[in-house]
Amino acid sequence: MNYYSTNRQSPIVGFKEASIKGQAPDKGLYFPETLPQLDKEFIRSIENYSNDEIAFRVIKPYVGNEIPEEKLFRIVSETVNFPVPLVPISESISSLELFHGPTLAFKDIGARFMSRCLGYFLKNNSKKVTVLVATSGDTGGAVANGFYEVEGVEVVILYPSGKVSQVQEKQLTTLGKNIHALEVDGTFDDCQQLVKTAFMDAELNQQLFLTSANSINVARWLPQQFYYFFAYKQWLHNSPSGDKDPVISVPSGNFGNICAGILAMQTGLPVKHFIAACNANDIVSEYLETQNLQPRQAVPTLSNAMDVGNPSNFVRILEIFDHQFPELKSKLSSCTISDTETTATIREVYQQYNYVLDPHGAVGYLALQRYLADQPGQKGMVLETAHPVKFPDAVENCIGRPIEIPAAVQSIMNKEKRSVLMKADFKQLKEYLVN
Ligand SMILES: *Cc1c(COP(=O)(O)O)cnc(C)c1O
Repeated sequence: MNYYSTNRQSPIVGFKEASIKGQAPDKGLYFPETLPQLDKEFIRSIENYSNDEIAFRVIKPYVGNEIPEEKLFRIVSETVNFPVPLVPISESISSLELFHGPTLAFKDIGARFMSRCLGYFLKNNSKKVTVLVATSGDTGGAVANGFYEVEGVEVVILYPSGKVSQVQEKQLTTLGKNIHALEVDGTFDDCQQLVKTAFMDAELNQQLFLTSANSINVARWLPQQFYYFFAYKQWLHNSPSGDKDPVISVPSGNFGNICAGILAMQTGLPVKHFIAACNANDIVSEYLETQNLQPRQAVPTLSNAMDVGNPSNFVRILEIFDHQFPELKSKLSSCTISDTETTATIREVYQQYNYVLDPHGAVGYLALQRYLADQPGQKGMVLETAHPVKFPDAVENCIGRPIEIPAAVQSIMNKEKRSVLMKADFKQLKEYLVN
């Protein structure tokens, strides 16, 4: 598969180069030259395939021959080695639980696949690779875990001191080995600015091979298709009477996740409709009304992993629909949910169905509920993108009891935090990286 840049000013590259580069030199996003079409018989009989086999079939056309089949199969097997259950909540809404991975967030899938691909591509590299990421919480944990013990790669994570939850901080700071946490006295924006400055610093880039683990990387974006197929397999199983295709609601921030789902649909996955569920950062909702994409400064909300004022992956959605607005609008709706509505939804769904949503899942749930209210007979699923224990303050308030910490996380809670405290000062960061 070849990839072109959405800005169309950079050369075409293969999967390997696209995943090492991350972003195209012209600052566009890499996009596949053709959309592969999946075998219809495979979709019809998807219940007969294991998740490993499904993932392999889905990703193979995008990787081409740049990773040998046997190795690619091993990479996808390791990537998807945890359950992704589709759990019914109400009569018409199910929850696709994407939080059973090692860091309890859907980002585990993309991060695990990408780290293994980069590990393979860079294994004979003479220079050590340094992955540099800024995180507001979820990305850093997934990336740290994905790259843990990957040979030839050092990971440096910048996070804002005191602004990530306790579980998130433990996930960033207790691994050790090739994972290094920098606790920045500042905000997430400060962290992101430091990382941007590092990528532009010529001297630093001469001394180190720096790369990002950003969500725009094709090796993080494309594997997110996997769980849409795992969901469909269970959807068929749960409704053997041949219920209609699902409406899928995706809590969206940078729009990478939903864009992967739309890609899956365009290549053959049966989906009735997509809903981009947004918090107050809702420039896409506005776009769908006005056809005018107007980036804004992000505002903080309870579903903070979606606090994005300029969603970078949206351009890929436009690309999928060939910039044809009517076609896009027939497949994608968007809905804005406030913080008040988010907490009310967590409370109500808990009281009514005894199901605990996290704030991101709650935004998705209410957006779906509203859509279905106008579509009698249709059913849908919400992607539950994180475990509620990662956002305990908001959730415990709503449900009136503490959330049990899952066993997978319990063990890290007692581990010692190790981080390097620093000011939001590039000189300090540079000195640290060079040494
Ligand atoms: C990252 C994240 C999102 C947003 O996903 P995008 O692909 O950026 O749209 C939603 N929920 C949670 C919990 C996340 O960590």
